[in-house]
Formats: sequence, structure tokens, C-alpha cells
Amino acid sequence: MENKKNTRREFIKRVGAGSALAAISTHAAFPAFSVKKPKKTADVALNLGLQEGVTPGKTLNEKLDFLEANEVYGLEVGGGKLASRVTEIQNALQNRKVKISAICAGFSGWLIATDENERKKCIDTSKVILEAAGALGSYGMILVPGFNNQQPSFPFVEARAILIDQLKELGEFAVKNKTTIILEPLNRKEAWFLRQVADAAAICRDVNSPGVTCMGDFWHMTWEETDDMGAFISGQLYLNHVHIASRKTRNTPGEDEGDNYITGFKALKMINYKHFVSFECGSKGDKKVVVPAALKLLREQWDLA
Ligand code: MG
Repeated sequence: MENKKNTRREFIKRVGAGSALAAISTHAAFPAFSVKKPKKTADVALNLGLQEGVTPGKTLNEKLDFLEANEVYGLEVGGGKLASRVTEIQNALQNRKVKISAICAGFSGWLIATDENERKKCIDTSKVILEAAGALGSYGMILVPGFNNQQPSFPFVEARAILIDQLKELGEFAVKNKTTIILEPLNRKEAWFLRQVADAAAICRDVNSPGVTCMGDFWHMTWEETDDMGAFISGQLYLNHVHIASRKTRNTPGEDEGDNYITGFKALKMINYKHFVSFECGSKGDKKVVVPAALKLLREQWDLA
């Protein structure tokens, strides 16, 4: 990546959608050249975040207190009924260091449905969430093109083509709202259509909009990727968010024996990733104990990467 000093969001704001598109096209044509050797590992900081449900605390303010006390500055909230929470969240974030990292789903319908009504429902509900995401300064809204239980869906080739058409529209809408769509690959038990970071990035490349990006989730990657490093490098310029959990049981990182994220972290440093690594997980132990322990583990592994 050539744009070392700016986050993708700042980049979009600074140069506008047209130039960003041109930049993406250039990178996409020469993906092998878009990843440069890191100068120093210290150049890239680990930005940790937690989903709201993972964060200890009864109220939003208690959760924000917990985050700041643990030097965690990303909060990921759900997209369901988000529009009605915008003022509450904006007020709570005043005079806080915490930012909204991403919005997790919350839409209805699905984009690879054969039923046009389901596709339209997904577009319409996603637009409402994108407006709220933009108002909250979120890097983006996480979207899954289709879960296994959402049927009937188009077969793969037709699904991909119709998805790309709709993502062009959603991407343009997202850019207008200063945010993005973030495609999330899931493991095969949850979604047959999109399982790997490289595939999500290839869809972003073909949509060719600064408003359409992708992410990787260590939990799903455990089952679908042959290598964390390869997966994140394949996401390159399009990688906008990361989910993390323990690798065997999807609990807090470190709660499964041998939880290791170092090769993935190495790749994030290599691609100069500056957005959030956000906890999406359950917990075996008391969250007030296991979450700080996980933060410590991840900071140690980041330093080793
Ligand atoms: Mg996830």
C-alpha cells in the first residue's frame, strides 16, 4: 500500500470517490506490488475493539468506561434498530476516545436471493443502517451476501453477478454517507457463498467502488483459510475490519489452548492495516477477567509479529 499516513476513510474523504476508484483499480491490476515490506513493525499499531455485547457493563456508559480503562478505543455495535440509537450513541461518545469501529449486520433479506423482494429488502434496510453508520463515523457496515438458511438463492455464478450489480448501488450510497459496506466471509456451516478473504477481495475488485470493502474473521478463517497470513495479504487494500475470537470454541482469545494470531498479525503489519481488530466472541470465564487477559495476550502477540 502506498497510502501510509491515512486511513482508508480519511483517504476517501481527502481525494474523493473518483480518485479512490482509480487508486483501487491500479492496485487491483497489480496486487502483488501493493504489499510492501514493513519499514519497522512499530509503525503499525494494534487497534483493538470490542463488540458491545462482549463489553462488560450494564449501560453504554459503563461499557465505555471499561473500554477506556483498558485502552480499547473501538466499539462495534449491532445494526438492528441502529437509526433509533444514533443520538444516544453520539451523546455517549462525546468527550470519549472511543470510536465506532464497525456496525455488525442488522439488515433484512439477502442480496443473492432469487426473490426480488428479498433483495430489495436487503438493499433498503442496508441503506438505513449505512446512514446511521455514517452519522456515527463508522468505518463501515458488515454485510453477508447470503446465509445457508436463506433460500432459494441463485447458483454461484449468477449470485456473484447479481451481487456485484447491487454492491455498486450500495457502494455509491455508502460513499455518499462517508462509510462503506464490509463483506464478511463466513465458514461453510454458516454461508456457502462467501468463505474466504481472497474471494471477498475479488468481489470488491470487481465492484470497483471505494464504498465496498471486506474483512477477515479469525474464527471463520480457522476453518476456511490455509494460512492467516495469506488470507490477510489477499485482502490487501480492501481489508477494512477484523473479527477475533478463540480459535476452537469462539470464546475470548486465549480461552482455548494454543490460541495464536501471530502470522495473521504479521500480515496486518505488512499491509499497513490501521483499522480495528474487534472481539466477536462468547466467554467461558467472567468477562471482567478474561477480556483484559485477552487484550494482554493479543498485545504480546502483536509485538512478537
Ligand atoms: Mg464475524
